[in-house]
Amino acid sequence: MKNIYLLGATGSIGTQTLDVIRMHPEAFRLIAFSSGRNIELTKQIIEEFQPAYVSVMEEESAMTLEALYPNVEFGYGAQGLESVATYQTDLGGEDFVVTAVMGSVGLLPTLKAIEMGRNIGIANKETLVTAGHLVMEKAKQHGVKLLPVDSEHSAIYQCLQGEDAKAIKKLIITASGGSFRDYTREMLKEVTLEQALNHPNWSMGAKITIDSATMMNKGLEVIEAHWLFDMPYERIETILHRQSIIHSMVEFEDTSIIAHLGTPDMRIPIQFAMSYPERMDLKQGKSLNLAEVGTLEFKPMDFERFPCLKMAYEAGMQGGSCPTVLNAANEAAVDLFLRNKISFLEIETVVAEALNKHQKIDHPSLEQILQLDQEVRRDILAKYE
Ligand code: NDP
Ligand code: MG
Repeated sequence: MKNIYLLGATGSIGTQTLDVIRMHPEAFRLIAFSSGRNIELTKQIIEEFQPAYVSVMEEESAMTLEALYPNVEFGYGAQGLESVATYQTDLGGEDFVVTAVMGSVGLLPTLKAIEMGRNIGIANKETLVTAGHLVMEKAKQHGVKLLPVDSEHSAIYQCLQGEDAKAIKKLIITASGGSFRDYTREMLKEVTLEQALNHPNWSMGAKITIDSATMMNKGLEVIEAHWLFDMPYERIETILHRQSIIHSMVEFEDTSIIAHLGTPDMRIPIQFAMSYPERMDLKQGKSLNLAEVGTLEFKPMDFERFPCLKMAYEAGMQGGSCPTVLNAANEAAVDLFLRNKISFLEIETVVAEALNKHQKIDHPSLEQILQLDQEVRRDILAKYE
């Protein structure tokens, strides 16, 4: 039995993680979870899964819930997130944390879970982008496994099973292209929030859907892959593949390429991370019908068309504090776009401005990262809000 500690239970990845627990009650039980502002769904999850500990965003909501569910312990805010990641049960079994919150708020609870030696299913890519060196260093120190939930990274992880890491030539990450893949730069000037939120292949949270449309998501994934697989940026390639059937590939020294194929169903990588090293039946999972798919197309990535991807590679290669700034600026910019304060193309302007004025810090400490993350957001909101 694995004890699951789930950060971000009410989100797109979070609810699909609950689905996996539902499919395998003999293998997983939900001990603790966090949510944000969706209190209705929080109540439903409490009633169905009977967890021991729950954290929400606001103190007031925690108090309301406390009165309704006297057998559950409640917390809130940043401290609550850490308590979910580190909650101790006396039920026995293996502890496993799934980080499915959106944004760099996932960093501190992830570090705490690692300090407790808990293996982690990591969906929350912003944590690896903002402080990859600290997370990987700590995971190594505590012998913790970070199992990727992001579909591309889960694909690469699966392609690497039983392989010699020294024989890897490069990683090839596929990109569907997002909501505006067939638009020219000119057409992007006029696009609306509603159009941007309409992803052709995947149904996901709002922030990552916008990141997919700007191609920043692929940039964040390149940085995520750099840390998870200890791979130099020169050996991480991205390629457009509109069908999202191949989730990523690895090329080896002998020029063989191993690819991972699947339907666009996030429960596959979520379950793979949770059940690793075993594979489980994905109940109601639909097999991929390749005859129906017919053709798989690939196109080179156009860095002029997708400047966010270019900025992410550059920030990653510069290293130090640059990815922290890239991530914080992007989170702030997407938040502004989602609130109709800036246009779609201004997202990249905001990120570029933040990177241009930044003086890089080498090997930033946790304190420097947290401070920088706040400063970058504050400056952007002060200018554009
Ligand atoms: P959602 O926006 O759907 O869900 C985010 C979750 O985090 C919700 O539970 C939300 O609570 C909670 N949350 C948001 N902000 C805060 C905060 N400041 N403090 C505490 N909790 C917060 O996001 P997704 O599930 O789409 O994405 C989650 C992570 O997984 C992201 O890092 C994303 O990049 C990554 N990912 C997602 C994929 C997908 O298919 N969705 C694919 C690959 C990676 P509430 O809703 O209750 O307010
Ligand atoms: Mg992905």
